[in-house]
Amino acid sequence: MKAIVIHEHGGLDKLKYEEVDKPKISPGEVLIQVKASSLNHLDIFVRNGIPGIKIPLPHILGSDCSGIVAEVGSEVRQVKVGDRVTVNPGRWCGRCEFCVAGEQSLCPYFQIMGEHVDGAWAEFVKVPEESVHPIPGGLSFEEAAAFPLVFLTAWRMLITRAALKPGETVLIIGIGGGVAMAAMQIAKYAGAKVIVTSGSQEKLQKALSLGADVGINHREQDFAAEIAKLTGKRGVDVVVDSVGADTWQKCILSLAKGGRLVTCGATSGPNPKEDLLRIFWKQLSILGSTMGNQREFNELLRAFDTGRLKPIIDQVYPLAEAAKALQRLEEQAQFGKIVLTVS
Ligand SMILES: [Zn+2]
Repeated sequence: MKAIVIHEHGGLDKLKYEEVDKPKISPGEVLIQVKASSLNHLDIFVRNGIPGIKIPLPHILGSDCSGIVAEVGSEVRQVKVGDRVTVNPGRWCGRCEFCVAGEQSLCPYFQIMGEHVDGAWAEFVKVPEESVHPIPGGLSFEEAAAFPLVFLTAWRMLITRAALKPGETVLIIGIGGGVAMAAMQIAKYAGAKVIVTSGSQEKLQKALSLGADVGINHREQDFAAEIAKLTGKRGVDVVVDSVGADTWQKCILSLAKGGRLVTCGATSGPNPKEDLLRIFWKQLSILGSTMGNQREFNELLRAFDTGRLKPIIDQVYPLAEAAKALQRLEEQAQFGKIVLTVS
């Protein structure tokens, strides 16, 4: 089969579109004929190499996919050949205290497809049965490949970790990125008011047309000062951040008393100057979040079934042009998800 493979870590030139062996499934696994995959920032980290994480090389990239079940293992019961499916990219042991409690993303052996194990930028991918789900809400293959990682991440951040309530105000930093876009839709779905920031006026306009209530250009304005103005100095209830160092202090400043900051990444750096005075005086909660558990993935599928969530697709490329697609992501030129189709 054809796949996008890296043999060593490095730049875009390390991506090779080449012939590899089709995966062989074990009794509890499912072989999926991939129809579409999508790109995540994780793909760039994996391609570059992540300090402290050993990725077996050669390695197939890609954490998200949708497709048609081509083959099932002898012990598979819930999935059958021909099913149109999407995949939860998480992998877990199923036996530790966290897995038994239903908190798979806290599993000490937690892995992500495309990071620790071969991914889905390929014609076929093998997946454990429990990670395979019917495509919800009449989504296309492209849409069904665009939502799992980012929507699952944003769902756990807002619904579980921040326990977002209707009528609350959420500030989302850096609209246009996959998790931020998913967070915007989920916050609206949960009945919250949504304020987004971006350095691009075009991205702000698009976000407003998709349901954001307020857009702040963080290149032209101090977003913490704007939040103070917009909320009568009260601040927002929840901040969703994955930028880290560059925005952290302003995120803390933007929170109301008792507010919650949820972080799922640190694209600008992991060590911001911390503001402990404000954290204890305002009684803030700083919440970390990574991916999500099976219950959250199922809740997300039901939310898609209502038709009120819809992955926003930026551009679609054929699998062979993955390097070109990844370049667009690296340049942050995208608004929504970049998708790869597999013929
Ligand atoms: Zn476990």
